[in-house]
Amino acid sequence: MITKIEDAIKESGEYLAGGTDYMDRLRHHLVNENAVDLNDLVGFNQIETANGKTHIGAMTTMLNVAQSPFIRDNYAGLADAAGGLATPQIRQVGTIGGNLTQATRCQYYRHPHLTCTKKGDATCGGRDGYHPYGVVFDNGGCVAPHPSSLGMALYAYNAEVEINGSEIRPISAIYGDGSDHHRDHLLGKNEIITKIILPAPTAEKATYFRSIARARAEWALVECTVRLILDGETIKQAFIAVGGVAAVPMRLPQVEAALAGKPAKEESFAEAAQLAAEGANPLPQTGYKVPLLVNTVEETLIRATG
Ligand SMILES: Cc1cc2nc3c(=O)[nH]c(=O)nc-3n(C[C@H](O)[C@H](O)[C@H](O)COP(=O)(O)OP(=O)(O)OC[C@H]3O[C@@H](n4cnc5c(N)ncnc54)[C@H](O)[C@@H]3O)c2cc1C
Ligand code: SF4
Repeated sequence: MITKIEDAIKESGEYLAGGTDYMDRLRHHLVNENAVDLNDLVGFNQIETANGKTHIGAMTTMLNVAQSPFIRDNYAGLADAAGGLATPQIRQVGTIGGNLTQATRCQYYRHPHLTCTKKGDATCGGRDGYHPYGVVFDNGGCVAPHPSSLGMALYAYNAEVEINGSEIRPISAIYGDGSDHHRDHLLGKNEIITKIILPAPTAEKATYFRSIARARAEWALVECTVRLILDGETIKQAFIAVGGVAAVPMRLPQVEAALAGKPAKEESFAEAAQLAAEGANPLPQTGYKVPLLVNTVEETLIRATG
């Protein structure tokens, strides 16, 4: 039984948190049975504050993130994302650390007879094959969107991640620019996420919204987290992140800039959301996601302001 992080990091490789992704990949012979079990680690499943910031232990379940009154009151965009993804059963056992480091959902990766560079094959089957769930910002590599809804939500909070109990990195450094089409994240083999660190709470309007092919038990086609800091009726600052559209989660600085100084009204939201797809270069089967991205951002803005 491993109870200390120092002992866990001596064992390199896969880790077992909630097991909702790891066990699926074990069944498909994509990982071996030697995962290091993180479930006995002491002190990594709490939500607490320190120096004004909020610390969420990596082993905290998504259910606890979604239902924490403190997270709901102060980080509604994260709580809504945690409460809106997957299924109640997955949220009950899946952890925030496992969510950030889960592997791609691409069926070419998960199928034993299909080719995928993330499995070590020379070619990506998805690019020239079936890819209607793929990216709309194509960087020439993997065309599967990053699967982590919470990673995306944490972009909107400029969150940080604690590794191995000491080193702190910005959430964006966990994923990089998505150009490495062999990996889903950039953590090294002996690196374990131990905490997520959120900035001090701010008075804001925030939410998460997803466009999805069925009501539940599915990854989003496009998803968005919005935070708006208001000065009366005017938008002082906007933070907007989107998922389902690129190999890594994305912020939309052009939409954020267009909203700053504008009244928090539907006309401003509609106008700014048009910029969400700037630079999009969809795949043959993902053109439909371009208007979906614009509409999802607009809808999330409307919902954030109630
Ligand atoms: C039907 C269905 C729908 C889903 N929909 C969504 C969705 O919409 N959005 C979404 O984001 N997810 C979705 N998921 C995925 C689900 O959220 C993940 O499976 C879950 O978050 C993984 O967490 P876990 O604790 O079970 O991780 P595990 O399965 O235990 O581990 C997953 C991976 O993370 C690594 N790992 C785990 N913890 C750490 C850590 N602390 N540090 C470093 N590495 C670690 C492991 O090595 C392993 O490779 C869905 C899953 C299903 C089955
Ligand atoms: S490289 Fe990406 S898109 Fe291509 S098959 Fe693998 S996971 Fe799918």
